[in-house]
Amino acid sequence: MESIDIFNLNSRSSGSDPFSIVPISGKGLGVTATRALARGEIVMIEEPLFTQTGFRSLESVLSAFSGLSSSEKRNYLLPANCHPDLHSLQGIYETNCFPLGPNSRLQSRHADRSGVFLLASRFNSSCRPNVENYWHTKTQTLRIIAQRDIRKGEELCIAYSELLAPREARQAFLRHNFGFDCTCEVCSLQGDASRRSDERRVALGKLYEDIGFIQNPRRGIKAVQRALDLLREEGLTFNREGFYYDGFQFCIAVSDIPNARKWIERAYRASVLAIGDGGDRIGWIMQRYIDRPESHPLRGLLPKTTLCAPR
Ligand SMILES: [Zn+2]
Repeated sequence: MESIDIFNLNSRSSGSDPFSIVPISGKGLGVTATRALARGEIVMIEEPLFTQTGFRSLESVLSAFSGLSSSEKRNYLLPANCHPDLHSLQGIYETNCFPLGPNSRLQSRHADRSGVFLLASRFNSSCRPNVENYWHTKTQTLRIIAQRDIRKGEELCIAYSELLAPREARQAFLRHNFGFDCTCEVCSLQGDASRRSDERRVALGKLYEDIGFIQNPRRGIKAVQRALDLLREEGLTFNREGFYYDGFQFCIAVSDIPNARKWIERAYRASVLAIGDGGDRIGWIMQRYIDRPESHPLRGLLPKTTLCAPR
């Protein structure tokens, strides 16, 4: 029964949590904000029910499942299974698992390590997500973090699909892997608005792939600015910190230390907003370069010149 299901899930979170699991029209269950949330705020921290490392099979999932308590087993069986071709235990795992690792902001069904989470698996998908999942290695917990300011009552959505892809490709991926037609605000755009969104995402995808290979620092910093503009226009935060870090590297390569410092400060701030401040590896590396940008190994790789600060 749905009401018991919701009760069981909500009773797992502490009373002060800023979210609630509720029925969402047309989507089954979903998660909503019970108060306004600020960008960068940690919405949820959850330990995995169980994890899988390397190649996973029915046997490995069964073995982990058999180690659960009877109430955990009942809860494990609640979420959707979009893989009717697989044994239900494996199908539920493949439908609901999260990648765990240093690149866990990128959704990957083929991550070396993955895990299932009873609460986190209740977030629905949006192609303009307002929260993102991040595996916090130090505490071995999954964090769900607000990517922008969120109103009380708003549904909280992560992204199940590749974001830097046009609507048709996202829709096909979601239909094939998760069995639903995405009706998020971006997929619902019509005509020109939809076409412009597709163009921005395709351009972003190309910049994401290409920026690391650009040799000319002036072209490089322009490409970084363009990527950040496109992210803003499209309402995405995907890899913002990475693009700022690219800007830092272009400045460092030409020994433009004052601008390099501005780029690395932005990269660090964007990283804290995206994944929280937890002394994780990325933050630690960036902090070191804020103190001493000139210590980066790319320093002086190219003839000295002055580039520009982030906008
Ligand atoms: Zn969508």
